[in-house]
Amino acid sequence: MMDKKVRELLNDQINKELYSAYLYLDFSNYFDERGLDGFANWYMIQAQEERDHAMLFYQYLKNNNEKVELKAIDKPDKVLDDDMKVLKFGLGHEEYVTSLIDNIYAAAFEVKDFRTMQFLDWFIKEQGEEETNANDMITKMELFGSDPKSLYMLNSELAGRVYSAPSLVL
Ligand code: MG
Repeated sequence: MMDKKVRELLNDQINKELYSAYLYLDFSNYFDERGLDGFANWYMIQAQEERDHAMLFYQYLKNNNEKVELKAIDKPDKVLDDDMKVLKFGLGHEEYVTSLIDNIYAAAFEVKDFRTMQFLDWFIKEQGEEETNANDMITKMELFGSDPKSLYMLNSELAGRVYSAPSLVL
């Protein structure tokens, strides 16, 4: 049987990932209203990835015969009124999610739950990529955001992002 604290943290992470999806859907909505459809596409796909993450935590608990309790998802509370601010919220949020994953990993390590540690390995790596992506977005916006033509090209580049299912299969 799984340690109570580890189970609770894994269960909470379902909610946190769904909140992430909701937050990125809000970002997508913001950029859509700005007319930046490529940015909107990029965050729409990001939202899909977060829903996938939620389902991986859900399925992991199910596969281990552990109870799942679904809780209310918070309203995205960020005021979105500036492109760069949105991107920086994104980076801050991913750093927060990294701290959550690290925290679950530490709890699993504490009780020698090697199975959960192995499950979380994928997320440890994934968070590294998420932070890199969020940083890259900020760098590109710093370089190109203030020039309309460059912003148009950046938007076109982001329009090309396509969804792919997570490489982790449970
Ligand atoms: Mg995630």
